[in-house]
Amino acid sequence: MPLLVMKFGGTSVADLSRIENAAKKVQAEVARGYDVIVIVSAMSGETNRMVGYVEGTSKLYDAREYDAVVSSGENVTAGLMALRLQEMDIPARSWQGWQVPINTTSAHGSARFIDIPRANIDAKFAEGFKVAVVAGFQGISAEGRITTLGRGGSDTTAVAFAAAFGAERCDIYTDVDGVYTTDPRIASKARKLDRIAFEEMLELASLGAKVLQTRSVELAMRYKVRLRVLSSFEDTDENSGTLVCDEDEIMESKVVSGVAYSRDEAKMTLVTVEDRPGVASAIFGPLAEAGVNVDMIVQNISEKNYGSHTGAVTDMTFSVPVNQVDRAQKAMEDARAAGIIKYDELISDTDVAKVSVVGIGMRSQVGVAAKMFNALAAENINIKVIATSEIKISVLIDRKYMELAVQALHDCFDLDKA
Ligand code: ASP
Ligand code: MG
Repeated sequence: MPLLVMKFGGTSVADLSRIENAAKKVQAEVARGYDVIVIVSAMSGETNRMVGYVEGTSKLYDAREYDAVVSSGENVTAGLMALRLQEMDIPARSWQGWQVPINTTSAHGSARFIDIPRANIDAKFAEGFKVAVVAGFQGISAEGRITTLGRGGSDTTAVAFAAAFGAERCDIYTDVDGVYTTDPRIASKARKLDRIAFEEMLELASLGAKVLQTRSVELAMRYKVRLRVLSSFEDTDENSGTLVCDEDEIMESKVVSGVAYSRDEAKMTLVTVEDRPGVASAIFGPLAEAGVNVDMIVQNISEKNYGSHTGAVTDMTFSVPVNQVDRAQKAMEDARAAGIIKYDELISDTDVAKVSVVGIGMRSQVGVAAKMFNALAAENINIKVIATSEIKISVLIDRKYMELAVQALHDCFDLDKA
């Protein structure tokens, strides 16, 4: 039997009528001849409610009990979905993580998959069951304790099952009808993409397009799981939504496929650090130890003359999430006090945003950066930091120009046109 994985997120199972609506989508695939593994999230709001219960009970809570509590929302929807399918005369049963078993590491709250043995579920399909409804987000550790995968983890559960069972496709049903060229709330001309390559989706997911958990895209890329994002609130067929797939499946890609943004960035500059081997390591070592996520890095010749230094000096600029500025500042001050680094001044600019253009077509096309900078210049937007990768160009700009920049770039790369 061909097999499909269908995942329903929290808003798609938010109440009994939505569960029924989701069950009908499952029924349609069963009628097409598929065996189906359904992965469910908790009803929307439930996981947050339970996180609140835990935090309201214990400040320094035992992470094993946190997982025992917050994993329970998925158990409820798995059982309800199985009941609803049974009401439709579809042979179905629910599976909690430990029953499969979904074996994970014991990193509670952010566990990773070890393996998902197929035997138990396969045996039930062989007995005539058509649907296995699996609770997303959870698993079991070698110690026999319930684990969770981190917020948004049901997407990753779905991809892991699709890989383990060799599914034809992994359909992620959500409250949007696909992946867009950019955020439609910012650029009204944003267009739904029919297809997007894994690598592009990975960049867009980690740059803040919140449709899929980043780890689920990484896993899909590694195991070449064809992933489809589509709406559970619309009538859908095999062409609906956006297919996230290998670039070989994309006939002709545009140079730029999407524009992503991240609002909560900060730029930090260490003024006049020594220009000698080992300086970068002396700066970014302590930042890493302090758990600061450094993103863009630029080293440039100091505008100030030598300051308090005698030898050659340089400025080091880097970007961090805005909520990590204090931590980064402390790490730098401590490193200076300990004599690990020298600098004259640490300047933090917390009013910046990052805007990026992403596209696999960039690999074979020159002039993309020039075109991007030109579009920003035409809007009089000053670029503070630039970073590039093979398929992405990112700039740091004043936050107040973020929307304008996204719109200008969307226009300049003709993303509204297919
Ligand atoms: N229910 C979990 C959460 O809200 C997992 C998920 O829905 O993906 O994070
Ligand atoms: Mg989600």
